Amino acid sequence: MDENCIFCKIANKEIPSNIVYEDEYVCAFKDLNPVAPVHILVIPKIHIQDLESVTDENAVYLTHIQQAFSKISKIVGVDKTGYRVICNCGEDAGQEVKHLHYHMLGGKNLGLKIIHD
Ligand code: 5GP
Ligand code: ZN
Repeated sequence: MDENCIFCKIANKEIPSNIVYEDEYVCAFKDLNPVAPVHILVIPKIHIQDLESVTDENAVYLTHIQQAFSKISKIVGVDKTGYRVICNCGEDAGQEVKHLHYHMLGGKNLGLKIIHD
């Protein structure tokens, strides 16, 4: 854990958040500033800065995150309607919080893919 990291503090329940799902490896909670009716952040329960920091040792957390999406989708009610998962990595992607996280967006038709030239 990184003592200066806000998402570590959320996973540790040192600061409040709306957690919708958690297990040994994964914590999922509502984004503070949602951009869709359903906007969940899914994070590993250890401090991994971003996708560039994934190693053989910590990759098990990502496996569990992949498996958690279909559990979370049922909890937040988007399993039938679908959702988009976005992971910002580094400066050009505009990653603000330096703890690996996946945005899970749904609850409406999200329209075009968010890829610009
Ligand atoms: P990024 O731009 O790093 O991919 O996304 C960071 C996300 O974290 C943003 O959508 C922002 O609203 C969310 N966020 C930042 N601080 C907090 C917080 O303290 N609590 C919660 N629930 N979300 C946060
Ligand atoms: Zn962290």
